[in-house]
Amino acid sequence: MKKYFYIFEGNKIGPFSFEELKNQNLTRETKVWFYGLDNWTTLSEVDELKSITNSIPPLLKVAKPKEIQNNNNTKNDIPERVIENKPSKNKGNLKRGIIVTIISIIILLLGYFLYNKQQDNKLYQEIAASAYETDEDFNFYVDKYYRDIGNYGIIPKKPKNIIIKFAKLDQLDNATHIHGISYGANNDDKIEIYINPSTWNKFNKPMRYFLIYHELSHDILNVDDLEYSIENEGKLMYPALASYESKTMDDFIESSHALFEEVAVNK
Ligand SMILES: [Zn+2]
Repeated sequence: MKKYFYIFEGNKIGPFSFEELKNQNLTRETKVWFYGLDNWTTLSEVDELKSITNSIPPLLKVAKPKEIQNNNNTKNDIPERVIENKPSKNKGNLKRGIIVTIISIIILLLGYFLYNKQQDNKLYQEIAASAYETDEDFNFYVDKYYRDIGNYGIIPKKPKNIIIKFAKLDQLDNATHIHGISYGANNDDKIEIYINPSTWNKFNKPMRYFLIYHELSHDILNVDDLEYSIENEGKLMYPALASYESKTMDDFIESSHALFEEVAVNK
C-alpha cells in the first residue's frame, strides 16, 4: 500500500494511506510526496490525487494565496509609495519650511523697522512738542552756511520752510544728537533742526559753529556722521563734538571747508 506524506507548517506529516490522506485537512496548495514522486509537489498538480484535490472547495483555498499575494502587493506598494512620496513630501516640507522662515524673517524685520520708525516718530513728536523759539539768531548761521557752500559751487535751493529751534534732546543717547538733531535730511523742501539749549549754553563760539554746521550739513548736504576714530577727530561730521573745547574758529573754518571741498568734488 502506498504511503503518503504532506508538509504542514514546515513539518513532514505522515505516513498516511490514501484514505487517511483524504481526511487530512489539506489544501490544493499543500505539498505532498509519496514514493514515485521526485520531489515535494503541490497537491493540485498531482494527477494521481485529483480525487482529493476535487473534493476540496477551490474558491477559498485558491483565493487565500491570491489574497495573500494581493496583500503582499499592496504591502509592497505602500512602502514603494512611501519611499517615493517621502522625499517629495520632505522636499515640500523643506520648501514650506524655508518659505515660512523667510516670511517670518520679513515680518520680524518689518516689525523691527516699523517699531523703530514708530519709536523715532515718537521721539520726533516729543522733541518737536518741546521745541520753542528763542532770541538766538539761527538764520544768521543758515545764511552764512549757504554763502560758504556757494563758494564751493554747491548751490542747493534754499527751502522756504526753515525750522531751527531749541528743544529738549536730553533723552537722546547719541553723542552728537544730544546736542542737536536734524530732521530735514533727505527732504530738500525743509530745514528742520533742533538744538539742545543746555548744550548751546555750555558750548563756546567755535563749538556752536561746529554744532550748527554739523546739523546743517546733515540737513542740507545729506552727509552722515563719521565713525569714532582718531583720524576723524577734529572733522565737522565727527560725532563727539563735546570734546572740541580746545578748537578755535580757524579749526572750525578748516574742518568745515574740508567737508565742503569733499562734497563739491564728489558731486
Ligand atoms: Zn550728526
